[in-house]
Amino acid sequence: MKKYDVIVIGGGHAGIESAMACRKIGVDTLLITFEKEKIGYMSCNPAIGGVGKGQIVKEIDALGGEMAKATDATGIQFRILNSSKGPAVWSTRAQVDRKKYNEYMKNLIELNVEILEGEVTDLIIENNSVKGVEVNNQEIIYSRCVILAPGTFLNGVIHIGLDSFPAGRIEEKKVSIKLSEKLKQLGFEILRFKTGTCARLDGNTIDFSVLTPQYGDEPPKPFSFSTEKLEIKQLPCYITYTNEKTHKIIKENLDRSPLFTGKIIGTGVRYCPSIEDKVVKFPHHSRHHIFLEPEGKEADVYYPNGISTSLPIDVQDEFIHTIKGLENVKILRYGYGIEHNVVNPLQIYPTLETKLIGNLFLAGQINGTTGYEEAAGQGLIAGINACLKIKNKQPLILDRTTSYIGVLIDDLTTKGTNEPYRMFTSRVEYRLMIREDNADIRLREIGYKIGLLSKEEWEKTKEKIEQINKIKNYLKNRKIKIEGKTIPLFEYIRRPNIKISDYIDLKEFNKNAIFTAEVEIKYAPYIERNLKEIEEFKNLEKIKIPPTLDYKKIPGLSLEIIEKLNSFKPLNLGQASRIAGITPSAISILMVYLKKYPV
Ligand SMILES: Cc1cc2nc3c(=O)[nH]c(=O)nc-3n(C[C@H](O)[C@H](O)[C@H](O)COP(=O)(O)OP(=O)(O)OC[C@H]3O[C@@H](n4cnc5c(N)ncnc54)[C@H](O)[C@@H]3O)c2cc1C
Repeated sequence: MKKYDVIVIGGGHAGIESAMACRKIGVDTLLITFEKEKIGYMSCNPAIGGVGKGQIVKEIDALGGEMAKATDATGIQFRILNSSKGPAVWSTRAQVDRKKYNEYMKNLIELNVEILEGEVTDLIIENNSVKGVEVNNQEIIYSRCVILAPGTFLNGVIHIGLDSFPAGRIEEKKVSIKLSEKLKQLGFEILRFKTGTCARLDGNTIDFSVLTPQYGDEPPKPFSFSTEKLEIKQLPCYITYTNEKTHKIIKENLDRSPLFTGKIIGTGVRYCPSIEDKVVKFPHHSRHHIFLEPEGKEADVYYPNGISTSLPIDVQDEFIHTIKGLENVKILRYGYGIEHNVVNPLQIYPTLETKLIGNLFLAGQINGTTGYEEAAGQGLIAGINACLKIKNKQPLILDRTTSYIGVLIDDLTTKGTNEPYRMFTSRVEYRLMIREDNADIRLREIGYKIGLLSKEEWEKTKEKIEQINKIKNYLKNRKIKIEGKTIPLFEYIRRPNIKISDYIDLKEFNKNAIFTAEVEIKYAPYIERNLKEIEEFKNLEKIKIPPTLDYKKIPGLSLEIIEKLNSFKPLNLGQASRIAGITPSAISILMVYLKKYPV
């Protein structure tokens, strides 16, 4: 019987990146998913990126992943969010054609990876290590590693009003119950989370003439560092609002809301609440924003971002028709809520391998996150680390100083999460250093060395780095006379509204290199401070802790701390210091011990 190197369970955003990473690194990979046609399907809004998420997509691209390229190929509107703020928090967001994105990803996987349609019903475990999977309750398939990315299908239950039924998405009545049971049996702590989506509307029946359009940036900036230019005709989104009449209908029907009757027990997404949640939590708000987002160029379907709901169908019908521009709208599909299981991410290492079962990696929604981008970032890291393990190489652990993906995984694996985790720029301490524009500089070398990027792609980044240095040196060596004083141009550029482009030969340099050079010059003093902090951070990260260390042997640690460290098994002192409840004095004791008995 054939044995694979890696089996990836799930054709969602996490599974795609895992499978493609394995394929590119050159290990024998099988992707098992319920429905081939649904590979890369977007369960919720037809958009990629956004605040904190755009950075993740750029990083996935810089490491050699697929999400940014797929977005460039299928995008219908591109915008830089937060552009009125500092470049540290600029985030790209793109509307994509939902159907085309799905087709692009399905074709990509079909061309590159062996696919099996079916349900993984069991994991084959021997000596606390995974050896393969059981499919459809019968066929056993062996592998050296398994990456589990089942998303919202893990014991999913859909709620619409007081009706509920098992499913992973409304379009697919499939659900993964046995696998969830297996994880429980293996000792994983299972949490219950909730998310939801809104109705879909027929664009032919929306009165756009009374709404405010929101256009994309012109020219649109590509997501991928490998896309030179986007030549697309962008589509606008439209803005409308709920009103007091909408809120009245919602309030009057809360007794039929699964959220407010206690039917839904899972913890919902705090930063993306349903409309009934918003109406109850913010009674003083007389209206809430709605962005009507087109789902594609040809499909006349609109996604009303902002009114996610699990209220009954008749209530959705009533409240949607009170909204300006939607008075006569035809509802194509109703909104719903979904509860699903997740594994406590404290039970995984930062490599995304589980602590309980060797060679079993978890990625995506199963680790407590919400969002396509968060899932894809984890999928890529799980795929890379499964391959590195097979090849007996050092794992890839991105720390908090390198990337948003590093922060995401560090947060999950050291702090855990008791609600769906979404990325924000505020979670990232060194965000002046970790920006969208320099994701290629930060990560492409890693992607190239692992085998995910071509030599040409890495050469392009090396050239950008050279150009940035050249621009900086040029400006350091040129002086300008201003207000009677002569100062280096480098210093002058730091002043507000002064642009590098007015002082260098634009033909000589690439515009991306000029942009990054300008940011680094303008923010030089802050970046220097960040660099010092990073050095201190790295010193703690460098002190490794063996996973086999028995903390009971270390004198001076309290029983509670010993228990925490023993169950947590941090890989280094930095990680140990971020575990909730681990005190600075415990870290000092550990440091002294590890210096005496280094790894
Ligand atoms: C209704 C709804 C609303 C959402 N709203 C939002 C939102 O507002 N904001 C947001 O950021 N995110 C939202 N999400 C979440 C977002 O869709 C997910 O975070 C993202 O898709 C997770 O990616 P994933 O790869 O982990 O899983 P998914 O994209 O869910 O993919 C899971 C894959 O696993 C496969 N699978 C599962 N179990 C098995 C099995 N046993 N055998 C074989 N295959 C299996 C499925 O077929 C599927 O291909 C929403 C999701 C849903 C369903």
